[in-house]
Amino acid sequence: MKNVPEIFGSKVFNDAVMKERLPKDVYKALHKTIDDGEHLQMDLANVLAEAMKNWATENGATHFTHWFQPMTGVTAEKHDSFISPETGGRVMMEFSGKELVKGEPDASSFPSGGLRATFEARGYTAWDPTSYAFIKDDCLCIPTAFCSYSGEALDKKTPLLRSMQALDKQAIRVLRLFGNEDAKRVITTVGPEQEYFLIDTEVYKKRPDLIYTGRTLFGSRPPKGQELDDHYFGKIKPRVKEFMADLDEELWKLGIYAKTEHNEVAPAQHELAPVFSTTNIATDHNQLTMELLKTVAKRHGMTCLLHEKPFAGVNGSGKHNNWSISTDTGVNLLEPGATPSQNAQFLLFLVAVIKAVDEYQGLLRMSVASAGNDHRLGANEAPPAIMSVFIGEELEAVLSSIEEGTDYHDKKKKLMSIGATVLPHIPKDKTDRNRTSPFAFTGNKFEFRSVGSEDSIAGCNIVLNTIVAEALAEYADRLEGAADFDSALSELIHDEVVAHKRILFNGNGYGEEWVEEAQKRGLLNLKSTPEALAQFSVPKNMEVFIKNGVYTETEILARQEILLENYYKTINIEAQTLSMMAKRNIMGAALKYEKALADTIVAKKGASAAISTETEERQLSKMSDLVSDLAKRLDKLSADMAKEDEMTDVAELATYHRETINESMHGVREVVDEMETLIPLDIWPYPTYGQILYSVR
Ligand code: ADP
Ligand code: MG
Repeated sequence: MKNVPEIFGSKVFNDAVMKERLPKDVYKALHKTIDDGEHLQMDLANVLAEAMKNWATENGATHFTHWFQPMTGVTAEKHDSFISPETGGRVMMEFSGKELVKGEPDASSFPSGGLRATFEARGYTAWDPTSYAFIKDDCLCIPTAFCSYSGEALDKKTPLLRSMQALDKQAIRVLRLFGNEDAKRVITTVGPEQEYFLIDTEVYKKRPDLIYTGRTLFGSRPPKGQELDDHYFGKIKPRVKEFMADLDEELWKLGIYAKTEHNEVAPAQHELAPVFSTTNIATDHNQLTMELLKTVAKRHGMTCLLHEKPFAGVNGSGKHNNWSISTDTGVNLLEPGATPSQNAQFLLFLVAVIKAVDEYQGLLRMSVASAGNDHRLGANEAPPAIMSVFIGEELEAVLSSIEEGTDYHDKKKKLMSIGATVLPHIPKDKTDRNRTSPFAFTGNKFEFRSVGSEDSIAGCNIVLNTIVAEALAEYADRLEGAADFDSALSELIHDEVVAHKRILFNGNGYGEEWVEEAQKRGLLNLKSTPEALAQFSVPKNMEVFIKNGVYTETEILARQEILLENYYKTINIEAQTLSMMAKRNIMGAALKYEKALADTIVAKKGASAAISTETEERQLSKMSDLVSDLAKRLDKLSADMAKEDEMTDVAELATYHRETINESMHGVREVVDEMETLIPLDIWPYPTYGQILYSVR
């Protein structure tokens, strides 16, 4: 039996360790930095660094690194050892406050969207004291933000922290209006549910497409897919169970609250959910979780696929970003209250989120856009590309009674008057689960379901925090100036319900009717990444970031460029990989099969003219057609890829890849998938979907 409480956080320089190891005044000063965002003095940093180093070396660490999240999407680290030369050829283990607080990685190898060209060539990392340092692979990792010398954010953490600050500021203004004087800070909380696939590494190694692109670029559907729904919450295979136990232990050591692990809908698909935490910590932890999923899988001879759509025709993987707003005193502001006044406050925050999603649909959609996620959003499994909010029947009834100024009857048929101070009692957690909604209220939090499995959750939370901060700012402005708070509040909630009800949708988000209905309501339907990314620089969308101090205009344009570039390069690598695989091995297999058929025909004819070769001839003729078709389509793909050289604008390149390259790739895939159903397995050069999806036994 594992001693979980003992394992938990054993590799983290957490509060308990700090309390134990730091002089009282340093510990207190550090808390001022963590809790109130105060600047950390260098002499204190030196004491802290010494304590950190001692703890780290006692726990086996030899190196330290500033751990950060550049725009590449993965985390970056450059390891430095603690050693410092001593006389007599000896070394000392050293770590200074300066090394703790600030680092200077070579920024030039990270994407900056031209930021560094315009500003400073170098970048620096700065410690985020709100996220604990931890040990990974004998290295003390210090969570940091990554900026250019002129202060432009080059990472995902900086804007996330800025967005949390923006929301804090506005939410506190609103709380004060309700007479709340104890809350010092408002934070957002996140619990991301993570989906992934596990396959045997032996089959993985045989698929260059999985190796280079993370997804299969061809493969016909397996005879047994997810039709039987027997995998979902089904019995977990022993090998996977061992993996999960090992993974849990690794996550716990890092202080990550891994809580539930289960099978998902598709064969070989699983899910992991942690207990929620403060958004920036949840974001760090989710990055670590993704990393550990991969490394722990390797130890068990398996490969973890985090791609949003590793297999066509089989459910893809997403991430459910459960998000809420909470005070530092532990009050969840999206929790319906017990008293009418608490409910009025709840309704205001609820309406603020609804308004935010309605007004900035484009930004939310943009925040989950990626080449991988394009295969999910809008397909019949993930939420649609149209943003809408599900709040459940009960709450919707409450909102419409507010809108119409009528009385609301709850289930017990008790009449409730809707007035300023007597807003209805809202029953807790009556939400039916609408799995087709991209943004659903689930009792005391919102679940944003459109996030891609491989994406950092920083992106969507930056947007969520910012747009809700903006809505709250508007409300605070309006209410602070009101002569009579109660009636102003009542009027405000009413007006907001009327203004934003078009974003509320409780029906089937997968249906074609919704697409039509959404269009009538004037909602955006951004089907692909290039269209979604264009939203980043729409004036109103830029303004909300700039006004709330989350991004500068330059940062926005730089990020948009990085994302567009990332998008088309991803598709470009896919096209090259597909082309290579089809030209070499698949064409080769097809020719081999043709030869086998031709040989059979000749042999049969030689044996006796009376034996029919009709079937073989038909098969050969079919193969022959497919081979020439494949050759033609591969030529088209090559020609289309060559045309890219004439383009320089990233937006143009992105659209071209979306429209033309994707289409040509699809053309090649069609023929390959048909060939796969005809060519015998001993000739077919790659593991099939069936062999991959059922490789872990
Ligand atoms: P369900 O299984 O119904 O989706 P759970 O209670 O299991 O809901 O929660 C799913 C995820 O939501 C978990 O990661 C959980 O920690 C997270 N969560 C719960 N409450 C909050 C909250 N207030 N803020 C953010 N995330 C939350
Ligand atoms: Mg959920």
